[in-house]
Amino acid sequence: MSVYEIEITGIASEMQGVGRLPDGRAAFVPRAIPGETVEIEIVRARDRFVEARLLRVLKPSDSRIEPVCPHFGVCGGCQTQHMKYEKSLALKRQKVYDALARLGGVQDPCVNDTVPSENVFGYRNKAEYACNHGYSGMFEQGSHRIIDMDECPLQTDEANKAFSYVKKHMGSLQIKYIVPRVNRRGEMLLTLSTDGKCNIKPLADALMKEFSFILGVYEMKLKPRPAHALDGEIRKIAGNADFFETLSGLTFTVSPQSFFQVNRPQAEKLYDIALSLADLKENEKIVDVYSGAGTISLAAAKKCAHVTGIEIVPEAVRDANKNAEMNGLSHKTKFYAGDAAQVYVRLNKTEKFDCVIVDPPRKGVDESVINALIQSVTNRIVYVSCNVATLARDVKRLTESGKYRFEKAVPVDMFPMTGHVETVVLLSRKTNASEASLM
Ligand code: SAH
Repeated sequence: MSVYEIEITGIASEMQGVGRLPDGRAAFVPRAIPGETVEIEIVRARDRFVEARLLRVLKPSDSRIEPVCPHFGVCGGCQTQHMKYEKSLALKRQKVYDALARLGGVQDPCVNDTVPSENVFGYRNKAEYACNHGYSGMFEQGSHRIIDMDECPLQTDEANKAFSYVKKHMGSLQIKYIVPRVNRRGEMLLTLSTDGKCNIKPLADALMKEFSFILGVYEMKLKPRPAHALDGEIRKIAGNADFFETLSGLTFTVSPQSFFQVNRPQAEKLYDIALSLADLKENEKIVDVYSGAGTISLAAAKKCAHVTGIEIVPEAVRDANKNAEMNGLSHKTKFYAGDAAQVYVRLNKTEKFDCVIVDPPRKGVDESVINALIQSVTNRIVYVSCNVATLARDVKRLTESGKYRFEKAVPVDMFPMTGHVETVVLLSRKTNASEASLM
């Protein structure tokens, strides 16, 4: 394989450094930092770019540091442990800017500095440890091979303790995933995902006895070919306490399958930013599409007249209704269980929403929802995104329609040490005057 010396000048989606080969092709180099000169070896060549391995750093960046985890570089969990935290924040902002400018078609987009996280390790309130053939830990980068490890520095102490215990005592039990969820008070809901053919009750009881912080243990009987760690049928095995989390002065019940932001203090900042960009008025009616357990919806309901939530996972909608009731906001909220592509498109025909908040999964907003947004009379769209590529694609569709203007983006570091960045974008409806001025 050929070896090259190149200069790293940019950053790619997984935080790989990007440089150019002498023939002009872009080279993607994991763990290389912009500004560095590095020696690389090509591992996969494509027509217009190559994937490369970092062999040596010839001229290191001032931001280069020693990674804390011995598995960094092999593990798929972290991508930025080799650089100072401030550098990763700046590069995440750059990633958002580049995506909006290149893929989103926004000229010189207004992108704020990335909002930093208080904790850069131990911040995840939910972990997914995988187990197979005696190996337990995290997946290797881009593969389903498990790296056997004792702990993961992104998880809480409680999660790592429960993981170690299960790892040590699982014996021949066919446990495929260990999924602890830890709240602000350090209490845990633990889900063990299995093939459904083993008896995990004795282990569940032993866990409850060993760790007073575990409130309940669930078993997830996985489907034959599960799409993710919690894809199957769930039942409670031990414990009986409900599991609550508090966020922005609201209390939430969270069931094992409901989506809940993994970095709590950052989620509070994210929602504050989303709502301040939404600039809600007391008399306004809004819709929160992809509403999960109703976190954004309820925070918004405190500031406006009514919030409609739309969410596809029925358990999450049940949680959202319970959460609305617990927080005295039932009279101001209504949650629909269903696909946004159907529910929003239908509601949009009869209801007038002053503002639409969308917080879609990684694949972005469904095209039919985008078309309905273009046809709607909504004044403002607040787009909360966990994937800058689909965000940029959707911003492009919305702005190209001529109905909306991109206002600004605020990146929030929800996932320190990883290549991911959460972004809040505000789009506003063009007034007749501004439309006319374009003609
Ligand atoms: N706003 C929530 C959840 C955001 S995550 C929060 O901040 O906690 C995205 C959510 O979209 C998940 O709850 C997921 O179940 C839901 N979802 C995914 N596809 C959907 C679809 N087609 N229609 C409606 N909801 C969907």
